[in-house]
Amino acid sequence: MVAERQNFSAKMVTKTVDLRSDTVTKPTEAMRAAMANADVDDDVLGNDPTALRLETEMARIAGKEAGLFVPSGTMGNLISVLVHCEVRGSEIILGDNSHIHIYENGGISTIGGVHPRTVKNNKDGTMDIGLIEAAIRDPRFEICYPTTRLICLENTHANCGGKCLPVEYIDKVGDLAKKHGLKLHIDGARIFNASIAIGVPVHRIVQAADSVSICLSKGLGAPVGSVIVGSKRFIARAKILRKTLGGGMRQVGILCAAALVALQENVPKLEGDHKKTKTLAEGLNSIKGLQVDVDSVETNIVYFDILESSNITAPKLCKHLEDRGILVMPDSSTRIRLVIHHQISGSDVQYTLSCIQQAMTGVPEENGGN
Ligand SMILES: *Cc1c(COP(=O)(O)O)cnc(C)c1O
Repeated sequence: MVAERQNFSAKMVTKTVDLRSDTVTKPTEAMRAAMANADVDDDVLGNDPTALRLETEMARIAGKEAGLFVPSGTMGNLISVLVHCEVRGSEIILGDNSHIHIYENGGISTIGGVHPRTVKNNKDGTMDIGLIEAAIRDPRFEICYPTTRLICLENTHANCGGKCLPVEYIDKVGDLAKKHGLKLHIDGARIFNASIAIGVPVHRIVQAADSVSICLSKGLGAPVGSVIVGSKRFIARAKILRKTLGGGMRQVGILCAAALVALQENVPKLEGDHKKTKTLAEGLNSIKGLQVDVDSVETNIVYFDILESSNITAPKLCKHLEDRGILVMPDSSTRIRLVIHHQISGSDVQYTLSCIQQAMTGVPEENGGN
């Protein structure tokens, strides 16, 4: 993405390469046109034709009976968990490094009265099946224990670097859930990235899940929203909770129209995003003082470590990049996360690599800056 960058004081930079997240994309011309022309009506009354079209399409893609547009992935996960845990004092099993556990304000507890039971996330985003099973509460001791009702998986796993869960693994977790009378929810914020990366259709990946939350405003590049999918009964309950939480919106087809374009335009671009991410990871790994586990990069996210031997910190490197119009997120004092999306070009990747290389070697730029 090349854009004018204003209010930039240090020197003239005309380019912004925004690698903070795949949520930073701007709606394309086609999306804006679709939004302007969207056929709309009151969606709280269930009449918005564009919302219905998007929900039907997402349900079809995910192989579920029905779908529901929600304002965000956070609300999609919250609603899903609460539908599965209608009784207060329910417990869910989820990864200790999962988005629901870390980044959603503990809403399942503060709003839903749901208790989180975390299981260690492995580096690949999985949780050991044995550990999941061991975390399921024994109903005979309900005098002390909350009741386990749900297992949550995340695919791709964001904090684990955009890892794809193996389909056989998800199926096994699904079998385990069934065996114990539990439900399975998948936080599929980036499920399309997983699908493209492993070459398996979304509906097959999520076959074992009772519900899935899918973001439209991540790699798909739509401006707003997520869709949750599940059985008709699940969605009927979800619709009531969405209204309770203030997520019932009226002429929401304006947003859904952009999402329908995103499905058409941007799903086919994800493969290119993943290739660019791999190129970025390989380039970073070849820079002295940096380390990336290149093989672990499967989709559009790359984390890199700054080795102790180099004399630059992550915040310093971030500042160096920001001065050159490159926006990134530090993860710690020695770790930085980069995320690729459809508005990052191959030359943006090369530009980023050369700016990082320059920061690491400390070689001044030709124009004398540093
Ligand atoms: C972004 C994200 C969400 C939530 O999305 P918002 O729309 O920002 O609320 C949930 N899960 C994962 C894995 C995400 O990356």
